[in-house]
Amino acid sequence: MLDRLRRVVPAPSFDTWFADTHAIGMQGGVLQIGVVSDFAREALTAQYYPAISEALTSVVGRRQEFELLVHRQQETGAPAQAMPPSQSVTAPHARPVLAPHYTFANFVVGRSNRLAHAAAVAVSEQPSQSPNPLFIYGGVGLGKTHLLHAIAHVTGPRLRTIYVSAETYTNEFVTALREHSMEQFREKYRNVDILLIDDIQFISRGEQTQEEFFHTFDALYTRNKQIVINSDVSPKLLTLLEERLRSRFEWGLTVDISAPDVETRLAILRSKAERDELRVPEEVLLLIAHRVQDNIRQLEGALNRIAALARLQREPITRELAVDALNAITSTPRTAVPMPSVILDAVAQVTNIPVDALTSKRREKQVAYARHLAMYLLRDVAHQSYAQIGRILGGRDHTTVLHGFRRIDRLLETDPDVRRDLTEIRAAMAAR
Ligand code: ADP
Ligand code: MG
Repeated sequence: MLDRLRRVVPAPSFDTWFADTHAIGMQGGVLQIGVVSDFAREALTAQYYPAISEALTSVVGRRQEFELLVHRQQETGAPAQAMPPSQSVTAPHARPVLAPHYTFANFVVGRSNRLAHAAAVAVSEQPSQSPNPLFIYGGVGLGKTHLLHAIAHVTGPRLRTIYVSAETYTNEFVTALREHSMEQFREKYRNVDILLIDDIQFISRGEQTQEEFFHTFDALYTRNKQIVINSDVSPKLLTLLEERLRSRFEWGLTVDISAPDVETRLAILRSKAERDELRVPEEVLLLIAHRVQDNIRQLEGALNRIAALARLQREPITRELAVDALNAITSTPRTAVPMPSVILDAVAQVTNIPVDALTSKRREKQVAYARHLAMYLLRDVAHQSYAQIGRILGGRDHTTVLHGFRRIDRLLETDPDVRRDLTEIRAAMAAR
């Protein structure tokens, strides 16, 4: 479990919270996990419960209950080890705390993250000539931390770079207050070329911490040093932060990362399969991409789980095996894949183009557009192959369907009418 968690939890948090956890044993079917202090137990419960649960499920292969207990590892009366000091190290030493594979090369770009990726690349290449601060926000598991590490990988070797989670920053500040070492604390954070702050929503609500962060920010900003901030919500919604901080966050560039579309999900799965040297049939990739839609960490977890099951059973990865593995992890089964006919009916209802026109040879603009919407949805929602979609739509070939899909995919980026049509069609589908 720890091995898995190490891959998904940022290194400083991992070292702080997980390094000293250990298995105590099973008690009435419940796995007991020992942690070193009440404080650690609370932090783990508040922030990492889902991650622990996910890691456990993927190791055990089914849902497994667990509880966190404050427990000393040696029962010989030795006091529990003090928690290790929180870590965030200035480059070049900063490198070890970065996940080695969180690089730009391993980051798959799609519509959902294109802007954030472009901005991160720009910052890594020309910090201080890029918008400052760069503020990236988006839901859990969508690649925000990955991008911050990727920037640090680029800048770390030549510029003073600090990557730190807001939580660690807070802990260090509190320690510095207690130990009267504010000088060093300030020295550290105010003398960098790039400060990368992860999960700003976890900065303490305490006035003092926010005050200090405000000054860190200003010290860097006025000297034209680059700041990059990640958050799970936009600056406007960071209501626990002081207004003056929030407004500063909007001085530069704010970009969001949204849930990846099906093509991006597929590309991420392919790239991961390749990196892990797994042989995964295309239909299995499609199946995973369909079942796990809004969290890339879970997307990767699903593939890990399938690969683990295949290894365990000494079988190749097949569709059947994948279905079993996925059923075990998605405890609430996803709503069934809509039938193609449901999609066509919904398209017809919203566009006023009858189904038999969609499957006909008619080529008027409106008909072609509605047909392209159908192609897009048959791919995105019903995960049909391009060839299957061609058959469903009256015997069109694979490249025609691909063209239609791409057209809508492109339009989605620029045309609000298309977005609205798709939203209405999805709603119509749900209502059936
Ligand atoms: P967040 O910080 O937004 O919660 P992470 O950066 O930790 O998310 O990403 C979760 C996982 O998904 C990581 O393993 C990361 O490498 C992977 N991931 C996220 N986005 C991409 C992407 N665009 N391409 C490849 N892997 C990605
Ligand atoms: Mg993160």
